[in-house]
Amino acid sequence: MSWTDLARNGRILVVDDAMENIQILHHALRDEQEVLFALDGEKALEIALAQQPDLILLDAVMPGMDGYAVCGALRGSPRLQDIPIIFVTALSQPEDETRALEAGAVDFISKPFNIAVVRARVRSQLTIKRQADAMRELSLTDGLTGVANRRHFNDTMLAEWRRCARAGMPLSVIMIDIDHFKLYNDHYGHQAGDACLQQVSAAMKGCAARPQDMLARYGGEEFILLLPQEGAEGTRVVAGRIMDEVRKLNLPHAASPTAPHVSISMGLATAMPPLDSHDPSAVIRAADARLYHAKQTGRNRLCVDLD
Ligand code: GH3
Ligand code: MG
Ligand code: MG
Repeated sequence: MSWTDLARNGRILVVDDAMENIQILHHALRDEQEVLFALDGEKALEIALAQQPDLILLDAVMPGMDGYAVCGALRGSPRLQDIPIIFVTALSQPEDETRALEAGAVDFISKPFNIAVVRARVRSQLTIKRQADAMRELSLTDGLTGVANRRHFNDTMLAEWRRCARAGMPLSVIMIDIDHFKLYNDHYGHQAGDACLQQVSAAMKGCAARPQDMLARYGGEEFILLLPQEGAEGTRVVAGRIMDEVRKLNLPHAASPTAPHVSISMGLATAMPPLDSHDPSAVIRAADARLYHAKQTGRNRLCVDLD
């Protein structure tokens, strides 16, 4: 994406109690941005949650919840805290500017508006926001397969574990490892091995589609699927689906002693409530032990428990 692309077509939320100001800003921005608006702080938070804007232009002085209070609420919300805020105000003392920046604003625009300045500031903050988004995305994703990386998995696992512990819900994981993948590389070459990892992960990705489910690359040819709020039975169904999807790919593996196609082994584990909110690692160890057992007993299979 070029610099100009990064600076345009953003979703901008304008918050001001005066309709006239909203109209001026809308007019200034509408050619290059999508503009949403709210006439008070409560509505602004509601729209921000629902629409996830890229940038918020926030009036400092409003009846009821003022700009500083809105700013505090945005900064305190995990789903809203990364949205940059530009304060818009007729207040023009250095203290006002300082207060806005200390409340968490990234920039400051004074009224009366200079349209060119408003446009330029919006473009520049939008560019920074998009670069930050791209960096965050990169830091959470495995470069080869596009699924979550292990660090992202660990963070999400911990958060979901705590959520399930609080809610009295189960949590399940499936460890998945490609069978005889070293032989695959040896036979077809490392690049074909990479392509195989991409195809297998893409096939597995669609098997668990709830928003909280997460497939991650755990190691070289090892993946883990996190299924929060899922019990043993549902997890078994998802694992069956994964087995089917990988089988359907029907990727030849002439060097495998297990099957003529690429196969996987899986270990399933479910933690039933009440979860010990301090230790999410036991369920991963259990899945790992079962994966090992699946390998020991012939591969191309799943192991649910060792009893
Ligand atoms: P098993 O059935 O017991 O799992 O045997 P395996 O050969 O799959 O397991 P092993 O752990 O011995 O070998 C894993 C292989 O995965 C070795 C390594 O070269 C390969 N591998 C790991 N990461 C990548 C990758 O990113 N690309 C490619 N092409 N190969 C990888
Ligand atoms: Mg393997
Ligand atoms: Mg392995």
